[in-house]
Amino acid sequence: MDKISIIVPCYNEEQALPEFYRAVSAAVEEIDGAECEFIFVDDGSRDHTPDILDSLACTDKRCRSISFSRNFGKEAAMYAGLQNAEGDYCVFMDADLQHPPALLKEMYRVVSTEGYDCCAGLREDRTGEKGVRTVLSRAFYKVIRKICKLDMGDGKGDFRMMNRAMADSVLELKEYNRYMKGIFSFVGFDTKWIPFHNVERTAGETKWSLRSLFRYAVEGILSFSSVPATLAGTTGALLVIAAIIIGMCSLLTGNGLTGIPLLVCLILLLNGIQMFFISIVGQYASKDYIESKNRPIYIVKKKRGF
Ligand code: UDP
Ligand code: MG
Repeated sequence: MDKISIIVPCYNEEQALPEFYRAVSAAVEEIDGAECEFIFVDDGSRDHTPDILDSLACTDKRCRSISFSRNFGKEAAMYAGLQNAEGDYCVFMDADLQHPPALLKEMYRVVSTEGYDCCAGLREDRTGEKGVRTVLSRAFYKVIRKICKLDMGDGKGDFRMMNRAMADSVLELKEYNRYMKGIFSFVGFDTKWIPFHNVERTAGETKWSLRSLFRYAVEGILSFSSVPATLAGTTGALLVIAAIIIGMCSLLTGNGLTGIPLLVCLILLLNGIQMFFISIVGQYASKDYIESKNRPIYIVKKKRGF
C-alpha cells in the first residue's frame, strides 16, 4: 500500500488546525490503495498550535510534528516537513483549508496511474482577496515569467503532490533562501495542473503583510534571475547612445559641440560608461551567488541500461 505524506506548515494556526485535521482525515478515507501520514511543522507559533499538535501526536499515530525554535518562514517549514516525510508521495497543504482536501483523491490517482511525477493545484481566481494584493501579485508573476525562464505562473502555488523522485530532487536543493515555486519549476519533472477555485481561509488571518509579500517577490526574482544585474548594463548603453545622438545633432546643426550640449554629452557618456562597468561587476557577483547555492548541475529522472 502506498503512503502519502501530508506536509502542513503551521504558523499560529490554533483556530484553523482542528477543522483542517477533521476535513483532511475525512478526505483521505476516500482514497483507495493509500494510507497517509501527517507531518505538521510548527513554524515558531506563539499561540496554542504546539499544544494542538501534541494532542494530535498522542491520539493519532499517523500524526507527527516538528516545532521550530522561532519563526523561520513557510519555505523553511516546507523543507523540514519534506525532510521528515517517509511517504511514497508527498503533498504540501496550507493549514487554513485554502487547499481543498477533496482534490487529494484526484491528485493521487494522477500521480499513481497517469505517469505524472507531480499533480498540482492551479488556483483559477483570487476571489475574496484584497484588491491591492491581487493587482501586485499579478504584476509580479508577469515580471518573473519574463525574466526567469521558469514556469512560475499566477495561481501555480505550493499545493502539489509529488512522487519520491521529485521530492528527493527538491531536497537536493539545499540553498538557505528558498523560493519553493522556483525550486519546483527548477527541478523539472512532468506536472499535471488541476484547476480549483480560491476559497477564503477557514479561520485565523493571513500571515503575509504587503511588506513580507514584497520581500518574497524580490527573493523570487533574485534567486532565479540575474536580469536585474544586466539592467545597469542596458541603462549604461542607452546613456552612451543618448550622448552620441546629442553630440551628433549638435555637430550636424553646425552649432559645434560646446557649452551646455557638451556638458550634457559628457555627463551622459561618463555615467553610461560607469553603469556599464557596474553591470559587469554585477554579472560576476551574480555568477558567484548562483555558484554558492551549490545546486545540482542536472537532475536525472530515469536511467536505462545501467
Ligand atoms: N506559514 C508558515 N510560516 C509563516 C507564514 C505562514 O508556516 O511564516 C503557513 C501558514 O500557517 C499556512 C501557510 O503557511 O499554513 C500559508 O499561509 P497563509 O494562509 O497565511 O498565506 P496566504 O494563503 O494568505 O498566502
Ligand atoms: Mg492561506
